[in-house]
Amino acid sequence: MSVAGHDPVLVAGAGPVGLVTALLLARAGVRVRVFEKREALSRASRASTFHPPTLAILDELGLADTAVSAGRVVREIQYLDGAHQVLARFDLSILETETPFPFRLHYEQADLTRDMVGALRRLPNAEVRFGAEVVGAETVGSQVSADIRFAAGREKVTGSWLFAADGARSAVRESLGIEFDERPYGTRVLRVMTRQDLDSVIPGIAPLSYVFNDEGSCSLLEMPDCWRIILRVPAGISERQALDRDWLGERLGRFFSSSDLREPDFVSVDIFAVSSAIAGENRAGRIFLVGDAAHLTNTRGGMNMNCGIHDAYAIAGALIDTLKGSPASMLERRADERHEIARNELIPRTDQKVARADDWLREVRGCADDPDRSREFLRSASMLDIAPRVKPHRESLDG
Ligand SMILES: Cc1cc2nc3c(=O)[nH]c(=O)nc-3n(C[C@H](O)[C@H](O)[C@H](O)COP(=O)(O)OP(=O)(O)OC[C@H]3O[C@@H](n4cnc5c(N)ncnc54)[C@H](O)[C@@H]3O)c2cc1C
Repeated sequence: MSVAGHDPVLVAGAGPVGLVTALLLARAGVRVRVFEKREALSRASRASTFHPPTLAILDELGLADTAVSAGRVVREIQYLDGAHQVLARFDLSILETETPFPFRLHYEQADLTRDMVGALRRLPNAEVRFGAEVVGAETVGSQVSADIRFAAGREKVTGSWLFAADGARSAVRESLGIEFDERPYGTRVLRVMTRQDLDSVIPGIAPLSYVFNDEGSCSLLEMPDCWRIILRVPAGISERQALDRDWLGERLGRFFSSSDLREPDFVSVDIFAVSSAIAGENRAGRIFLVGDAAHLTNTRGGMNMNCGIHDAYAIAGALIDTLKGSPASMLERRADERHEIARNELIPRTDQKVARADDWLREVRGCADDPDRSREFLRSASMLDIAPRVKPHRESLDG
């Protein structure tokens, strides 16, 4: 059965999750219309970690080669003590029998969204509209109706289905009356980007390393052109205080010798509040919530966007099957599975990493010493156990 004869599928939001949804559907021949409230793609630096199953999805969408060649491939993870001695080391190559991508990729989220819009623009059945804010949406019979605000005024747009990928403050979710109970974490994330090569500070450092001392931990991620140093800001410290040079210097001094880091090499210093939340439902009629619109968690382990991309792939993939004649109950079941994964796996898994640093480190060290536990640890850290299976959808272009 052809997938092309239906009303277009509407997508709210041109973040990574909305764009994966749109690209998967459009490459399968489905007409897709993406509405993004900004006038242009966001260039803000946010997610950087792409896990193996996400790379397999990007590969199916024709995006992995560009990302892998421009990004930083990470095959080794180190856990270090306060004196920068290695406590535990993991080699992701151990996963090579399970995935064609036995590594993580450090790549800017904003570079991926740019790649995806470029790919969508080459498809005649896909449209990306900027300056188009989805104010609300509802299911009306066998269609969806979205209320969209353009510069010239408001318009009702109809489609066959709608994916709400409009982020944590989702207006679509709000218009459907779906609850989203956000729980802020006690700490916020402070991120320093530096052009300094941290290998000169910690010789032999892996491109993903964690330093643990009595006061907590800090994460070090190598990007293609800089390093990200990620620290936690305790409750009670204001944003202004945390960005103050003295406070920052003192905090960094807990993990590095004072002369180690060269401040002139800092590219930026940002602070982010993080919270955890799960939508009461991730579907209502012919509307699905995906990505941050459906779930939020802390940044440790780099999982929330990855999980959102997996939502998009699983649910949009099931929609393609439905458009080709599979029962709609399969589509609903797939959406429900994604909701359960976010609730029962994603949030507890990332919470575990921040709750008790000492327990977590003990667990990590136990795994590193045992090959079977090491493999299980990396499967879980790479989300291989909770990601959808990748299968080609492109063939359905022929109907
Ligand atoms: C510092 C930082 C580091 C992170 N690191 C990682 C990481 O390494 N790995 C990871 O997996 N996750 C990470 N995350 C989380 C990740 O950035 C998010 O999970 C991801 O952006 C979610 O993608 P999304 O497409 O669902 O939502 P968003 O990226 O928020 O995109 C939503 C889009 O919808 C648009 N929009 C909003 N409202 C409307 C509307 N009403 N109508 C139309 N358009 C609308 C927005 O302008 C935006 O373009 C990090 C987050 C931060 C802040």
